[in-house]
Amino acid sequence: MNIKEIILEQKENHDSFYLYDERRIIACTDALKQNFPDISFLYSMKCNSNPHVVKSIFSQGFGADAASLGEVIAAEESGLPKDHIYYSAPGKSAKDIRQALPHCTIIADSIHEIGRIQKAAEELNTCVHIGVRVNPEFSFYGESGHCSKFGIDEAQVFDFLSGNDCGRVKITGIHVHLKSQELNAEVLANYYRNIFALAEKFQDACGFELEYINLGSGIGIPYSASDSPFNLEALARQTKDLLRQFRLTNPHTKIMIETGRYVVGKNGIYVTKVMDRKESYGKTYLILKNTLNGFIRPSLAKLVKSYSPDQNPQPTEPLFTCEDAFEILTLKDEKSPKEKVTLTGNLCTAADVIAEDITLARLQEGDVVILTNAGSYAAVLSPFQFSSQERPAEIFVTEDGGILS
Ligand SMILES: *Cc1c(COP(=O)(O)O)cnc(C)c1O
Repeated sequence: MNIKEIILEQKENHDSFYLYDERRIIACTDALKQNFPDISFLYSMKCNSNPHVVKSIFSQGFGADAASLGEVIAAEESGLPKDHIYYSAPGKSAKDIRQALPHCTIIADSIHEIGRIQKAAEELNTCVHIGVRVNPEFSFYGESGHCSKFGIDEAQVFDFLSGNDCGRVKITGIHVHLKSQELNAEVLANYYRNIFALAEKFQDACGFELEYINLGSGIGIPYSASDSPFNLEALARQTKDLLRQFRLTNPHTKIMIETGRYVVGKNGIYVTKVMDRKESYGKTYLILKNTLNGFIRPSLAKLVKSYSPDQNPQPTEPLFTCEDAFEILTLKDEKSPKEKVTLTGNLCTAADVIAEDITLARLQEGDVVILTNAGSYAAVLSPFQFSSQERPAEIFVTEDGGILS
């Protein structure tokens, strides 16, 4: 079955649904693995935690970048061993730490948290190796660093290393993540260069070879038609050179890149049905099922744009990338009659507008509207609880064409 046939079949049972394509997801994991043979990958589960998606990506050899205790547990239940699960997030509670410790590697996000990990290790009568998320003295674009709620300032990390007997806790890895959705490979290569330099400095201070360095995310995807795709080969070439240099003194350190949107962002679509159509003062409205509360990013993009004085408002990842961050498609053919319509959702708020006065094939009740780029930060971000609406379904098309839901 092709995608159109699958949509036609699924719309008989669902008024709104996500459709994820495993074949395309695996093409993306393959592209990463082939371009970076010496690097390990983590999947950032928060971008799409659908169990079929998660399992599929883990089966491609990816570990887990877990952002909560819930994700640590989900990763373990999906079959990942402890040393492939990394738990990095601000504000972990003592309970989060206690329950996560036996199942993953914890990346401490503050000096206080290191104290809480120490306490948990005492309670469990164990010694633990942890990583620290460093807020470095460089920015993503290579300027000086700045304040952040994430991680521990580089200077504080080095103070800590020199002044503390860590007791039951040993810091054996570092994690740096400063930005998502970058499309310039050169910027990312320079950022990696700075992290390798930081790692060398860290090793000098602690006197042993680090177990791992997590270079964070950053690899972006083209959302808008005017975006050029990320040049993975260019980043791979430069990273290989950096690694060759780094390996001279650090033969064993595991190097990791974590990514969410690169592997799933473009490999999911959102399908929503026309529930009603109406004319008001000469304007045509299509009322769709579950927009703001099913796939929030299009409505948010419209809101951000309408409140911003800028022509192109700054992205606020992962909630908003740009106004034209998805295409709006139908199943009608090229020649079918067109009309000017405004697309809204079925909630009792005027804020769930996806598009205003656009030209679209003429649709009737029961026809579908398709939104692209709905694989990441889509289902997971939706306020499903608002007005107790039915949730969109999530359909996973397996590599061999099977349908899982
Ligand atoms: C969300 C997040 C990611 C994933 O970002 P993508 O742009 O989806 O690749 C990676 N690392 C950290 C620390 C994150 O918070």
